[in-house]
Amino acid sequence: MNNIFYKTEYSCFQYKIRRAIAAFALCLCIAIFASVSSFAQTAAPPSSTDSSLFYDSHFHLTNYVQQGIDVHQFLRVMGTKVGRSTLFGIPLQQEWDYENSGKFAPVYYLQTDAPLYYYSFTDAYIAMQYKSLTPQEQARFDPMITGFNPTDMYAADHIRRVLMTFPGVFSGIGEFSIHKEFVSSKISGETASLMNPALDSILEFAGEVGLVVLIHNDIDAPFPKPGQVPYQAIQVGDLFRRHPNTTIIWAHCGLGRIVRPVKDQLTIIDHALSDPTLKHVCIDISWDEVAKYIVATPETIKATADLINKYPDRFLFGTDEVAPPSQEKYLKVYNMYLPLLAQLTPDAKQKLLKGNYTRLFDAARIKVRAWEKQHVNDQQPVPPPTPSSGEDTKD
Ligand SMILES: [Zn+2]
Repeated sequence: MNNIFYKTEYSCFQYKIRRAIAAFALCLCIAIFASVSSFAQTAAPPSSTDSSLFYDSHFHLTNYVQQGIDVHQFLRVMGTKVGRSTLFGIPLQQEWDYENSGKFAPVYYLQTDAPLYYYSFTDAYIAMQYKSLTPQEQARFDPMITGFNPTDMYAADHIRRVLMTFPGVFSGIGEFSIHKEFVSSKISGETASLMNPALDSILEFAGEVGLVVLIHNDIDAPFPKPGQVPYQAIQVGDLFRRHPNTTIIWAHCGLGRIVRPVKDQLTIIDHALSDPTLKHVCIDISWDEVAKYIVATPETIKATADLINKYPDRFLFGTDEVAPPSQEKYLKVYNMYLPLLAQLTPDAKQKLLKGNYTRLFDAARIKVRAWEKQHVNDQQPVPPPTPSSGEDTKD
């Protein structure tokens, strides 16, 4: 077993490396998008005059109660420091249940036991924010579709409907979550699963259209017992392998607030990165919770830098900031990573901060626009009459 993503059976050896896997978060990333090669031919953002620090592959304009800054405020926060950014809200709405928290209005999922539910209007909101920009400003953003329920076999239909309603806007889907500490178990309805065929239909459709997929899936359970099967890692590897024609970014290397890395898994990560069946998968190192692991010690910094230097095409920088009110707050994760950046080769650093973003999202823009053009006149089938409430449905 030489892969971070376990294949089917589970063994003692696999267990031994489980923590390692998680660990490092760094990244298992997995290979990437070698197949996506077209470079920017679309409205390209700042180029020769681009002196920005980075492009942001992971950014939330709004929070868990659909509040945030608007895109014009975000532009001011980006200033000249950040050249381009993905743009998405959060597909989940935290319910304010008066019976649970009274007059306290929760804005984060850890603040109440009330459930979360899928909030599809986020896609219309993000699209309208993008459409309020000038073409020159729009060129700096890659909006993403998130407002679908990944357990619903109709989810791909939602994504298609969003593309047809807002052509010329979206470059990808996500960030959406399957296994996420504290969150997955709070969502109303069916529990999300990596084995649900609805998820396969989503990834398959994304591949057909050319949408970049940004997926959050913890690599392991919080506080796993010794010997506990890391089914998340096994299943996510299997899922990715089932969709070799879809460009996938695995958010946060599978780490979380308490799903933490351990030491010494570089060999394992190396194997994953060199696995040709995962070459369409990449990872982002976003989130201050992830940065805290990577910059924890000189050893973790060096180990991570060595890995990125070895696989420079497979990592993306992102902030995972949610509606930052100021540039100082927005640049926090970048500043946390300065010790890591200092140990990267010029090539690896450029690709981590900008080059890989450009490669992936410019390719997506071209493919998605072409798909939209091809399908713009598709006739939607007229569904059979739906019985009115109370009507006899025997025939
Ligand atoms: Zn995020």
